[in-house]
Amino acid sequence: MFLTLTTTGTPERPATDLGYLLHKHPDKAQAFSTSYGTAHVLYPEADAERCTAALLLEVDAVALVRRAKGKGRGGAPDAALAQYVNDRPYAASSLLAVALSNVFSSAMKGVCNARPELPGQARPLRIEVPALPARGGPDLVRKLFEPLGWTVTAEPVPLDTEFPEWGDSRYVRLVLESTGLTLAEALRHLYVLLPVLDDAKHYWVAPDEVDKLLRAGEGWLPGHPEQKLITSRYLSRRWSLTRAATERLELVRLAEADDSEVEEIDNAVEAETETEEKPTPLAVQRREAIVTALRQSGAARVLDLGCGQGQLVQTLLKDPAFTEIVGVDVSMRALTIASRRLKLDRMGERQASRVTLFQGSLAYTDVRLKGYDAAVLSEVIEHLDLPRLPALEYAVFGSARPRTVLVTTPNVEYNVRWESLPAGHVRHGDHRFEWTRAEFRSWAEAVAERHGYGVEFAPVGPDDPEVGPPTQMAVFTITTPKEAKAA
Ligand code: SAH
Repeated sequence: MFLTLTTTGTPERPATDLGYLLHKHPDKAQAFSTSYGTAHVLYPEADAERCTAALLLEVDAVALVRRAKGKGRGGAPDAALAQYVNDRPYAASSLLAVALSNVFSSAMKGVCNARPELPGQARPLRIEVPALPARGGPDLVRKLFEPLGWTVTAEPVPLDTEFPEWGDSRYVRLVLESTGLTLAEALRHLYVLLPVLDDAKHYWVAPDEVDKLLRAGEGWLPGHPEQKLITSRYLSRRWSLTRAATERLELVRLAEADDSEVEEIDNAVEAETETEEKPTPLAVQRREAIVTALRQSGAARVLDLGCGQGQLVQTLLKDPAFTEIVGVDVSMRALTIASRRLKLDRMGERQASRVTLFQGSLAYTDVRLKGYDAAVLSEVIEHLDLPRLPALEYAVFGSARPRTVLVTTPNVEYNVRWESLPAGHVRHGDHRFEWTRAEFRSWAEAVAERHGYGVEFAPVGPDDPEVGPPTQMAVFTITTPKEAKAA
């Protein structure tokens, strides 16, 4: 496994500064022993104009297998030989990424005590990896590196140069070039993206991998168009870890967004769900339908459960029929954005006394939710994993027990009508499920039955004769309020 890192320089900013940045002297060849082999660092060329550092990893395939076994991952017997005879010693992979982080840890952090000004400076960089396993091929390689400011050359390596008819191997020769990045950024890109392309981790994926990913991804992963793929592959497709990472990345992204960007995010979200519904966006129609149903129920004190960024709370505030409006969400960031949207800090006292936002999870019963006239769950249930849904059901219908509950959720049948939605896709990346009208109806009727509510259904948006409306709404009305005391 082999990687070279080249920079060019001028008399004022000599290329040999690379030695300071990497904390490895250009005149020396050094070797570092790691648990999976030996990492060598040497400089094939080093002068003021041009300096190249090479990282050569000599993998000890036997040590690697022992190490994996020591962690309780003995291979199947038929894989026994493949464990020892494989491409690990030759191809760049996650091990190379680990070696980078071991050998160049200060450089990756952007620390250089001898020349503190150097790490922050972008400089011309050229990185070459002669044999990079790339599942997804040159296309994916480009999709991963180009958004980060790299000029990418990714040439497929033929399986055998003597027999071109055999086609290409899963390896590419990778060359990355940039003038706008710092060395630390470059190393952090490689640290994450080499294993992503290899798509087979060779060491144990522990929960602290999420921390490592977020640290290495700081400043570039939250906005990366392939963030989902990167996160999922980096974490070896461990669903729980991927989700944890995705949630934290979303928080980072929101934290970085200022007011104007918040509006943009909202618009983007709306555009995503609403697509070509030009005259009245679906989100607006949904809020209108909710307000109408709430007014019909005669509710004055209303809970907006999973209020998100506060659009519905804002709409409800405009209607004096609603004397008390409470927005609840599990996401602190969403609540912060909601409070900025509502300008809570600049609101007059009377308005302010009508609205409360607090953090809470609908997966747990919460005394703060008791005693309201109505609760709204607008586009919330589909964000919970199905096994968590009974917990939400109990928290809302069993424990909080408002007189009226409104639930809206996408009608998956309608998805064929969205031009921009590829077949079989859900409308939003975070939707854990989307239901047909029959599925929603059967869930809602069972909930009503279990908790002493009646339920009626209403379409939101154009009611297509074949596939129904884009959004479906259930209006639950309590029939046996006595249970409220028992609950
Ligand atoms: N009601 C808003 C937002 C819908 S997005 C609207 O109609 O536009 C779903 C919201 O549910 C997100 O803000 C998410 O943070 C919140 N959410 C998801 N799971 C939750 C839970 N267990 N408890 C509380 N809120 C939750």
